[in-house]
Amino acid sequence: MSPSSAPSASQVAQWLEDEARLFLAGPGNDNGNPAGFERAFGDPIFGYAWAADPIWESFKKSVDPDCLTPFAAFERAFSPSPAAENLFVLVFVLPQTGQTSRDQSRASGWPAERWIRSRRAHQKTIDGLTKRLQDFLLTKRIQAVAPDLLPAWQTRPSPSFQISSLWSHRHAGFAAGLGTFGLCDGLITRVGKAHRMGSLVINHPLPVTLRDYRDDDFRRDCLWFNSGSCGLCVKRCPVGALSSSGHDKEKCSGFLNRTKDYIAANWPDLAGAYGCGLCQSRVPCAVRAPKLPKAGSVAGG
Ligand code: SF4
Ligand code: SF4
Repeated sequence: MSPSSAPSASQVAQWLEDEARLFLAGPGNDNGNPAGFERAFGDPIFGYAWAADPIWESFKKSVDPDCLTPFAAFERAFSPSPAAENLFVLVFVLPQTGQTSRDQSRASGWPAERWIRSRRAHQKTIDGLTKRLQDFLLTKRIQAVAPDLLPAWQTRPSPSFQISSLWSHRHAGFAAGLGTFGLCDGLITRVGKAHRMGSLVINHPLPVTLRDYRDDDFRRDCLWFNSGSCGLCVKRCPVGALSSSGHDKEKCSGFLNRTKDYIAANWPDLAGAYGCGLCQSRVPCAVRAPKLPKAGSVAGG
């Protein structure tokens, strides 16, 4: 493709967003309801980041000392890689549907059926969407890498974070201006924190989303941190895995394992599935970002 015929950053972004919406309207986004096709996830939102942004290096402190930068991820799939200045990151957020969020809001102690259906479907949906976008880009002779689908990607025990991984979609979303972190660790976006995410490193310019928060203000939208109020996610957790110290991932994952028996007993076609997500419903940041406190209010929590 000659430079003069190369599509613009905003053109490529529009293509990708259209392609994602098409995919999500079809069977790749089915939640497996035995009654017939039902979407697992609602309308997506998107953010774009630059691979040469210094923020990626800072994630070695907050995610994992060995976590991949977009350049390092791209280089593992395509060598020699273009310089980081020529790479961009697309991050997509797939919110729970309104019906799933409403069902989950009514649940207490154990998750709602629809929540478990979308949880069980989410990896298939995200992988399918990622592949669809990669294939689409290839038709335009643009290369793309999903860092979490690289053979090198792993989660592992971490002395600082209990469990860490070499690529975090949530942190990619923070870099791409999509939102900041809540007490429960979820990324609070403009469609809330009840969602699933995916990301791709792409060797074509994309329209970088400006972050409307400071790089060190990574808890800006959580009421606990910005006004010393709320804490409702702590109360929603049935096993005390959330507290003022944050998210106890081991306690949380212990409960997720225990949900298997409850799910198999209540919804036999979901046997083997597990999940919880109660802290992502019936809270002010579930489906939208809470209003920021007025300047001058007390911060703490
Ligand atoms: S429920 Fe409240 S305390 Fe918990 S993450 Fe959301 S805003 Fe923060
Ligand atoms: S997912 Fe469930 S167990 Fe884990 S922190 Fe949230 S409410 Fe607690």
